[in-house]
Amino acid sequence: MLNKHFLVSGVVQGVGFRPFVYKIAIQEGLKGYVKNTSSGVEIEVQGCIQSIESFEKKLNTQAPVLSLIKEIKSSFVEAGCLYKTFDIEKSQREKSNTTFVSVDIATCKECLEDLKSKRYKNYFGINCTNCGPRYSIIKSLPFDRSNTSMKAFSMCEECKEEYKDPTNRRYHAQATSCKKCGMSLNTSIENTLKAIKDAKIVAIKGIGGFHLVCDATNDGVIKKLREHKNRPSKPFALLCKDISTIKSMAQIDTLEEQLLLSKERPIVLVEKKQNEILSKQVAPNIDKIGCMIAYTPLHALLFNEIDFPLVATSANLASEPIIVDASTLVQKLPFVDLVLDFNRDILNPIDDSVVQVVDKKIQTLRLARGYAPKLLKLPIKSKKNILALGAHQKNSIALCFDENLILSAYIGDLDSLTSLEYFEQTIKHFKELYSFEPELILHDKHPSYESTKWAKKQGIECIEIQHHKAHLYATKAEFGLGNDCLGFSFDGTGFGDDATLWGGEVFVADQRKYHFKPLKLLGGEKALKEPRRVALSLLFEHYSLSEVLDLDLACVKSFSSEQIKLLHQSYVKEINAPKSSSVGRLFDAMASLANGLQKQTYEGEAGLMCESLYEQGFEQSFDYKIVDGVIDPVYDLLDPKLISKFMNTLVNIVVELAKKERLEVILSGGVFQNKVLLELIGSRLEKEGITYHHQQQTPINDGGIALGQIYAYMQSFK
Ligand code: ZN
Ligand code: FE
Repeated sequence: MLNKHFLVSGVVQGVGFRPFVYKIAIQEGLKGYVKNTSSGVEIEVQGCIQSIESFEKKLNTQAPVLSLIKEIKSSFVEAGCLYKTFDIEKSQREKSNTTFVSVDIATCKECLEDLKSKRYKNYFGINCTNCGPRYSIIKSLPFDRSNTSMKAFSMCEECKEEYKDPTNRRYHAQATSCKKCGMSLNTSIENTLKAIKDAKIVAIKGIGGFHLVCDATNDGVIKKLREHKNRPSKPFALLCKDISTIKSMAQIDTLEEQLLLSKERPIVLVEKKQNEILSKQVAPNIDKIGCMIAYTPLHALLFNEIDFPLVATSANLASEPIIVDASTLVQKLPFVDLVLDFNRDILNPIDDSVVQVVDKKIQTLRLARGYAPKLLKLPIKSKKNILALGAHQKNSIALCFDENLILSAYIGDLDSLTSLEYFEQTIKHFKELYSFEPELILHDKHPSYESTKWAKKQGIECIEIQHHKAHLYATKAEFGLGNDCLGFSFDGTGFGDDATLWGGEVFVADQRKYHFKPLKLLGGEKALKEPRRVALSLLFEHYSLSEVLDLDLACVKSFSSEQIKLLHQSYVKEINAPKSSSVGRLFDAMASLANGLQKQTYEGEAGLMCESLYEQGFEQSFDYKIVDGVIDPVYDLLDPKLISKFMNTLVNIVVELAKKERLEVILSGGVFQNKVLLELIGSRLEKEGITYHHQQQTPINDGGIALGQIYAYMQSFK
């Protein structure tokens, strides 16, 4: 008779881990106990060596789908007592708090089946240990009902029975409830469906906030939504009943199908195909659509009655966080015709995640519901508690303690007061959740980012990390790279070491060795939103003022000749014309010159446009020079194939430098969200036998900066 003690850490609470341990212990005829502690799951088993070994094997290989074991510490111990049974003991709270929050998961198949059973018939709040809300409803660890917003609902006798039965799927399902004891809706599903069919705009409460929902086949209602939200052309995401609805509108491959059906249920960007179903208003001017499949029981009940796809966009005002309560919703979005609400609070707002398949791999564009908070294990232990604040756009934050790095969900652009509040609220909540006090703050180098200003007010040691270096280190963090790499950081604009705006940088190890020839951004900040200003600047590089005035180009005509003369003055005298080496801005210029995009109505519009206009199979490109590390393409700005030639030129530049430097390649920064560009580069590098990396599980855009800041610090300052 032997006693063995185990301590399992990682994502092991609220995921059916204890019943799993109970089940395998009983199978092996072992006695002892299992319990949740603040440092993980603690197990003691008593029995013969064969049974213990076989138990251990199952523990290592058969853990529940939602769990993520980080480490199992085990040792044989003195038998203190003789156990009569195997028991699941009550949770115990300890001082050190190192367990991890699990994420929100789509309704599982079994629960969807249960929706037809008598007990759960059409109950919109059904869930079990394999599915349902987690992060969005948690206040503090451990994940027990009393620490969640389910605290407000006490279980009926039947729910208690299920909760207490280790053989039941709802054993210790902290968020379980049924029709009798659970939540209620403010209005009926029938009313909601009627409103949708009548071309109304409806707000529906989901996991991490409200969606604005309408019929995606109806031009009129989508136009109305666009007007009310002041969102002329940014694509809307679609919520669909099932995979076949998506297949009728889009061309999807196996990996895209897997992602659409995965338990995380992200929005997946897929290629739109010719179809009669979808309104052209959903994603004007681009050939992609963002689709997701119904992921809550409430969605399932709605789709019982309808087959057509729905527009489902986060309910918020531009640049504000997602709205989580009905009263704020009616106040901020008074145009909404009907609100479908229920009485469980959302404690942590969280948007839908967005991913796409690039180079046959997942690429994360927005890390949120289902993926966040994301835990990464570092190769070395951190000596300090570190808080990283990310950048400005697509902000997210990260914490680091011991060997753990936790990346928050997408917070958004820090442009409004409410998004700043959300940023602060996330930091506060993370500090509580992980019992974390920062000893060091990492922030972007940009002096006027709100995150930088916030850092400097905290009275804690601060270190700035250059933006494009952080992009490359985010990739290193994801793949655990410690060695020297050739890093391409192609991006929008970020603050460089020389106080100019960078964004087309090539690093060898930590040294910036090459960069694109800087352009003058006419009008500074304004140029970030008006591609025509970047285009004009490029034209001034190539033509005299009088030649520019004579050009028959839409981007020139969008200015008055007085404006052009003034801008030329600022170009010559370098007044309000900061220099930038950003490749992102070059895409803006090309979209303006070749396709008349003069003002962007959303971030990334130019890049998406260029992607749509690229001619596959077209191989011509522009020449370029590289002198003293300055990359200088020789454009013909009036070329009818401007966009394709420009993108091919970028590919040639990356490949030539990769062949020259012969190091592993990293491709990071917002520009590489361009699927066409990344795939062209990938296939060429592969032919050359050069290893390359680009982020998959963490955002390749500024959503990954916080992660990169921490890894850069760990590698450079250790
Ligand atoms: Zn379930
Ligand atoms: Fe960036």
